[in-house]
Amino acid sequence: MKNPPQDAAAKEILQQIAVLKKEREAVILAHNYQSPEIQDLADFTGDSLELSRIAAKTSAKVIVFCGVRFMAETAFILSPEKTVLLPVLEAGCTLADYATAEQVREMKKKHPDAIVVTYVNSSAEVKAETDICCTSANAVEIVRSINRDRPILFVPDYNLGHYAAKVTGRDLILWDGCCPTHALLSTFAVAKAKKKWPKAQVIMHPECKAEALELADYVGSTSGMLKYVKSQPTGTSFIVGTEAGLLHRMQKENPDKVFYVASEYLICPMMKMITLKDVKTSLEKMQHVITVEEDIRARAQAAVDAMLRYTGTVSKQPPSSVAETEFSIGMEGKDAV
Ligand code: SF4
Repeated sequence: MKNPPQDAAAKEILQQIAVLKKEREAVILAHNYQSPEIQDLADFTGDSLELSRIAAKTSAKVIVFCGVRFMAETAFILSPEKTVLLPVLEAGCTLADYATAEQVREMKKKHPDAIVVTYVNSSAEVKAETDICCTSANAVEIVRSINRDRPILFVPDYNLGHYAAKVTGRDLILWDGCCPTHALLSTFAVAKAKKKWPKAQVIMHPECKAEALELADYVGSTSGMLKYVKSQPTGTSFIVGTEAGLLHRMQKENPDKVFYVASEYLICPMMKMITLKDVKTSLEKMQHVITVEEDIRARAQAAVDAMLRYTGTVSKQPPSSVAETEFSIGMEGKDAV
């Protein structure tokens, strides 16, 4: 159910967006971390890969991606025949910026036998240097699926890689990158929240640091957390250790439960850049069109498809030969988001 617009000006913008959307044959996608008004406006909310899959499947000609740049790029990688718009061009991802293609190539020279596993929170150029992508939901399974005699270079999130290493018992070569929003969640903040709400369960995202994750009752991706809270009894309360935007959807879908953000600092400034006005302008001016050069796109798609093969969903574009997996173990039916 959509929330009512806050005021007359917002109502007018929403009406204009609805008209423009129809004219452009567009669909609006919003990441779970977007502002509540953007989530409520969107046709679909979800995490980056869920949204990219929707983008690939939709018959809409134009995709307005309310998220950050790597997400819009991933949507284009999977459906290059569509026009993908990012309403605010400056909306990047600090975690993705930790790795460049050049740096990954250098690391590959140092570790020539390594399989490169890259979190989808990375640029198209970095994905193009990758054997197989992963999400926060399937990082553990992807790592587990790789032959034990092959070293694994995990790019670019140290904390997610550390978590996957711990769960699988594998010794990964970890990249020195992190999401500052999640990595700054301290054990002190979590302990303080637990003291304040002692009956609440603590649920956290694996981009958080290992010592903070020790205090969690459940660790999972945004989709994993959404499923988990749904499975818990009416009246349960939760301390949520991820970007605060997710609480909007959690509360909307679970009015019988209570949610507290683990820290007031769990706000990603990049994710909060897009406003209703930006979405309207984006559709009006058809800006900012996100594309990826074809050679890079095809190689990046092969790495994304190598991951999607485990979930029974492969993008419509024919894959290149880059990521023919020698490390395949059946993972059908697992969530990729
Ligand atoms: Fe990137 Fe972290 Fe912001 Fe997500 S929350 S877009 S990983 S900086």
